[in-house]
Amino acid sequence: MKVFKFGGASVKDAAGVRNVAKVLAHFPDDDLLIVVSAMGKSTNALEEVVWAYVEGNETKPQVEALRTMHFAVLNEVAPADDAAVNALDQSFRDLQRVLAIRTSGDVDEDYDQIVSLGEVWSTLIVSAHLNATGHANHWLDARKVVRTDDRFRDARVQWEALEGTCAEHLPSFDRSPKRIVTQGFIGSTDDGRTTTLGREGSDFSAAIFAYALDCESVTIWKDVPGMFNADPKRFPPTKLLSHISYREAIELSYFGASVIHPRTLQPLQKKGIPLYVRSFIDLDAPGSTIDDRSENDSLIPSFIVKPRQLLISITPRDLSFIVEENLSGIFSLFAARNVRIDLMQNSALAFSVAVDDNPRSRQLIEELGAEYEVRYNDGCELVTVRHYDEPTLTKLTAGKEVMLEQRSRTTARFVLKAAAVG
Ligand code: ASP
Ligand code: MG
Repeated sequence: MKVFKFGGASVKDAAGVRNVAKVLAHFPDDDLLIVVSAMGKSTNALEEVVWAYVEGNETKPQVEALRTMHFAVLNEVAPADDAAVNALDQSFRDLQRVLAIRTSGDVDEDYDQIVSLGEVWSTLIVSAHLNATGHANHWLDARKVVRTDDRFRDARVQWEALEGTCAEHLPSFDRSPKRIVTQGFIGSTDDGRTTTLGREGSDFSAAIFAYALDCESVTIWKDVPGMFNADPKRFPPTKLLSHISYREAIELSYFGASVIHPRTLQPLQKKGIPLYVRSFIDLDAPGSTIDDRSENDSLIPSFIVKPRQLLISITPRDLSFIVEENLSGIFSLFAARNVRIDLMQNSALAFSVAVDDNPRSRQLIEELGAEYEVRYNDGCELVTVRHYDEPTLTKLTAGKEVMLEQRSRTTARFVLKAAAVG
């Protein structure tokens, strides 16, 4: 069995859904588990429904728009599938029922019950279209298989439960090839309440299923022909990373590369399951391979940019040295406020960090101010260059104010002021 994952952009409309069938037609003999995200920007639209619901505001127009869009696509791609029409209709009725009653009091729990429906709808449509075009398949409710804890919106998977849930809920096929269509992003608690795995979590779902079923590979189908060494809008010309190791890919996603959801790689690495990133537009393009053969790594300079960073510098008021005691106090505050440190550096008197510029970070600056002298720069970006060489760095920093710089043998990192100088 192989896992194929189709993201929201790949199934954003009827043409996208039809394209899934075209991709499958290239793999006529393969047993496939197909993980699908919510269509286009449906997850964002559903989030708006949640915010309106918890505020006690009107949700009808937004729900109606989602309903119209999904039914329009279903009618185009599988007009004769009454079962799918009924299932989709039932799901919208269920949603309306939820929205008509009071909130549970836990916003995150409400969020998961509502936002998860995007994936239910998209998979009903994709499954119906595949059935209508000769790709007979079984629609699987991922919530039956992916058991999680009850950390709503950021649920943790119960890995040890997978064997049992798979045995219980996966169909036994009497036909070949085996085809299963299921949802990314969603799971459920032991007592059957829907959970989600964090935004963009469908890649991770693909890895969970591959891990559970000891699959041969995972392919993420994207609108780009693989993983590149940089964002082409910022660093043209870019190059395809045709092969990288799990370790390298984990490093890249840690530094902020957004191609693959960061949690996706660990389960694959544990079982040595390769991950392919390929184009759903150009099916003959080779794409990128991520596996455990680090000797094949494409070690060209790769650029990862994190925009909207704050560079904060923290100094004890009495000019005492920055030592372990203050550092542990400072770290606890960062942890307590859930502010992730993207880069850190210390000198005798100052401890400097780069963090995302968001309300939590701003709040933390206030709190640190009670004990420390805190200075900060906003409007910064954090640029990480893996496998750098000197000419690359010179070019990168030309005309930029370098606020902080850090290098290891493989990685150079810069906090740059976004505005050019001189
Ligand atoms: N639909 C979810 C989201 O947009 C999950 C995903 O697309 O991976 O975050
Ligand atoms: Mg998405």
